Amino acid sequence: MHMRVVKSVTCCCCSTTAIETFQHLFCACPDSKTVWDYLAVAATVQGPFIQLRNNILKWWQADCAPKLKIIFKIIPAMVIWHIWKSLNVIYHGGCMSVHYLLSYLNRNIYLLTITKYPWLNNVPKRWPFIVQYLYEYTPILVTKIITLIAPNRGLFKCNSDGACRANPRPMSSAFCVRNDSGEFVYSDTRTTWDILVTEVEVIAMRMGIEFCVAQSFLPITLETDSLALKNIVDRVWEVPWTISMEVKKISLLREKVLKLVEVTHILREGNKVTVFFC
Ligand SMILES: [Zn+2]
Repeated sequence: MHMRVVKSVTCCCCSTTAIETFQHLFCACPDSKTVWDYLAVAATVQGPFIQLRNNILKWWQADCAPKLKIIFKIIPAMVIWHIWKSLNVIYHGGCMSVHYLLSYLNRNIYLLTITKYPWLNNVPKRWPFIVQYLYEYTPILVTKIITLIAPNRGLFKCNSDGACRANPRPMSSAFCVRNDSGEFVYSDTRTTWDILVTEVEVIAMRMGIEFCVAQSFLPITLETDSLALKNIVDRVWEVPWTISMEVKKISLLREKVLKLVEVTHILREGNKVTVFFC
């Protein structure tokens, strides 16, 4: 339109007689320049910002903290979009000061940060402080030591697990039994097809209990890495209909041996031997 209707159009945002070109509107216009400089100073992205394409590349290639990388990738698009919106407001007779534009941009960068990293607490609301916060951020690492505790004298321990490639796909259920000195006693696996992952978990548990009851390896502590299954078997949670038959079999077996079977939860790392058999 600029080329076909009139020879040149002057910028509607600044008092200069600069021609409204792509580079002027988004880079050289004083308000646009203020926005780019405000963001770049805090982020230590080196200017000058003359061409839009170079601007974008400078932000994309800037050396920064890992958490800032994705935000630096989005910043150019956000700035262009905000400048474009403010130009439209001014063009249609409205008023949009550069301070209002910056506060609007700050708010959206803050929203972007908390959407991208929802687990971060007390994220500052202004861009320079957001940059500083993300540079200085160090995650809190929680470590847990998992050790194999041998069962008490005369007791047995059975670990059960189920594994699958997808849901539903070929799957396998496995269990292994150890005695009170931690020695390996027995293990068994079974491959099943086209059932759900909760079903293989419960089948593995039922197989383990069945074997231990048949061989009189009692009393026994049964460990599973599925907390859901433990709660279902202990009747803390409601039993899903897909596994109700297997849960009933487990309950009957436990009642048959006067509840000498105790079901406990273990973290996945402590169940590695059974995971290997699966
Ligand atoms: Zn201008």
